[in-house]
Amino acid sequence: QKQQLYEANRLKSAFLSNMSHELRTPLNSVIALSGVLSRRLANTIPTEEYSYLEVIERNGKNLLLLINDILDLSRIEAGREEISISRFSIRDWINETVTMIAPQAQEKNVTLTSVVADDLAPLTSDPDKCRHILQNLVGNAVKFTETGTVEISARWVDRELLVAVRDTGIGISADHIPHIFDEFRQADDSTSRKYGGTGLGLAIARNYARLLGGNITVESLPGKGSTFNLHLPETLAVPETPWLEDARRSLANPNACAAVSGQGHDILVVEDSEAAIIQLTDILQTQGYGVRVARNGKEALALIEHTVPDAMILDLMMPEVDGFQVLKAIRGTDRAGHLPVLILTAKHVTREDLSFLKGNHIYQLIQKGDINKDGLLAAVGRMVAPPASETPPSEPASSEPVPAPPRRRAVRSARSGKPLVLLVEDNLDNMLTARALLTEHYEIITAEDGLNAVAQARLHQPDLILMDLALPVMDGFEAFAAIREHEALRAIPVLAVTASAMQGNREEILAHGFDAYISKPIDHATLIKTLQEILE
Ligand code: ADP
Repeated sequence: QKQQLYEANRLKSAFLSNMSHELRTPLNSVIALSGVLSRRLANTIPTEEYSYLEVIERNGKNLLLLINDILDLSRIEAGREEISISRFSIRDWINETVTMIAPQAQEKNVTLTSVVADDLAPLTSDPDKCRHILQNLVGNAVKFTETGTVEISARWVDRELLVAVRDTGIGISADHIPHIFDEFRQADDSTSRKYGGTGLGLAIARNYARLLGGNITVESLPGKGSTFNLHLPETLAVPETPWLEDARRSLANPNACAAVSGQGHDILVVEDSEAAIIQLTDILQTQGYGVRVARNGKEALALIEHTVPDAMILDLMMPEVDGFQVLKAIRGTDRAGHLPVLILTAKHVTREDLSFLKGNHIYQLIQKGDINKDGLLAAVGRMVAPPASETPPSEPASSEPVPAPPRRRAVRSARSGKPLVLLVEDNLDNMLTARALLTEHYEIITAEDGLNAVAQARLHQPDLILMDLALPVMDGFEAFAAIREHEALRAIPVLAVTASAMQGNREEILAHGFDAYISKPIDHATLIKTLQEILE
């Protein structure tokens, strides 16, 4: 029975993940195209018809919120919810929530207040999740209150933070209280008819609270009002995040790529563990690589100052000058700004670490326990290939820090003066949508599968590639790898576009080497901003 339950739960998560993809994809078209029409048709069609567009867009977005809620829940259930901890001000957190929900309260003439002492000690927890929980509790309090007040108060009780959200609303009867935290449950049917909502908010809020080591309790009297109490521990220890483990594992065995000969290539190994130095030197030398070793960050910087290697394998945790500092230092120089770097670490890589590493253009991240010879040689081979004779001439020296890896020289298509974007998408509606969003500022060429994408990229050498990940013939990951294998295409920025929020954790995708990640439905402003940032 236990096994059957486990299996049922697994199937449910898989089903939700797939369904979310199926639901988000058509929503992409609905939201994005209604937005395009709104912009283009302003003052050209009768006001009433024009207002329909706003209704379509708003409903599309509501539906998306619902799907995101369902996804949040299934992520929690599947144990894939990540936690990111920092220390933050309780007063700011509560004020932010009040500011956000104040317009709804004002509209209903409900008074929304907060009572928080000036000198309340800060909380160490996940601020995003805390925000989510409180917004839900305060949003409900305002929603279920017709007249009167909603008051938020916060105080420390021993080593526990207690945030109380008290309202003078409709209240909840004793027999309904045990069920309101269940998924899709509302106090009674009339509630959903009168107040709307889906019955998922409290389920997510309580799951989050528990994930953060706390809980939510409730006291209520029908007709008098309710008080929801959020209890959170003073400090939350960082738990292991299973999805990151998955990412590490998938990176440890990079897509098969034949190991190239190491003859004539000089690899700098920056490592303080003698065992790891022996292991790496052994693997690299048997393949013909020249190996230099630096036993700490300082030594590494001195060696690079003297001669820049073809690639570097860098440990993160080292005494005095650590791997992060080495990476930062070299990226700010002309000499080694473009040096390919593979991070090899035993450290628990946090989300912040990953975003720092990614921001400093590391080639790949491999966990120490996961080194295998073939995987390592393939990764190093990709860093140093092609042979030095084919490497493009180095850029003229400049005092400005050089971003790495090198970007393409010209970012303008000769034909129209607009940057050339290769759009890779198999769904024709989505293709039409993306084209409509981009056509004003970019020249567009398209491909409907991964194989064709590689061919188009070789033929046109676009300034940027927008790559859907779920593609026929050859998927987006494979197409990306194939594009990166061509020297002439290596520096073209490739953005992953996907509707699969469950499978495609942002960091996981970025860790594959994509330059950025855009989730469907594509938000027009985000898309344009991301493209501009990357191109300029
Ligand atoms: P939703 O608000 O989308 O219906 P929630 O999970 O947030 O879903 O809440 C579940 C149910 O709990 C609500 O439908 C409502 O019946 C009850 N509820 C939640 N908060 C309050 C409140 N402050 N006052 C009265 N009832 C509440």
